[in-house]
Amino acid sequence: MSDCIFCRIAAHEIPSKPAYEDDLIYSFYDLDPQAPVHVLIVPKKHIGSLDETTPEDGELLAHMLLKVKEIAASLGLEKGYRVVINTGEDGGQTVHHLHIHLLGKRSMNWPPG
Ligand code: 5GP
Ligand code: ZN
Repeated sequence: MSDCIFCRIAAHEIPSKPAYEDDLIYSFYDLDPQAPVHVLIVPKKHIGSLDETTPEDGELLAHMLLKVKEIAASLGLEKGYRVVINTGEDGGQTVHHLHIHLLGKRSMNWPPG
């Protein structure tokens, strides 16, 4: 989608600091980090949110989740990390392109805000 900021970032039309990339996904540093390490993982295919996924997205979703530990290891998050997928208005989603937040290098609180 040409008017979607994360589609444009994934296509390298808008600059970002990369953390990982393959044929299906792109991971880049969040512009407004909420932890010492804060990267986003997005599918290159436009999917609006977790709520808009279909069974056809199963392999892609599995790929995204299975890559988390690799990306976390590459970023030195051996003490652990937090994975978040904000979804919809109440979920605090502000960018309408599915993304995983991967946060680390600090101790996380629960419950989240
Ligand atoms: P959400 O609130 O939708 O879960 O997360 C969107 C995230 O995208 C926010 O953490 C925000 O800082 C980040 N973000 C928004 N626009 C940009 C951008 O242009 N570049 C980067 N690197 N991050 C962005
Ligand atoms: Zn998009």
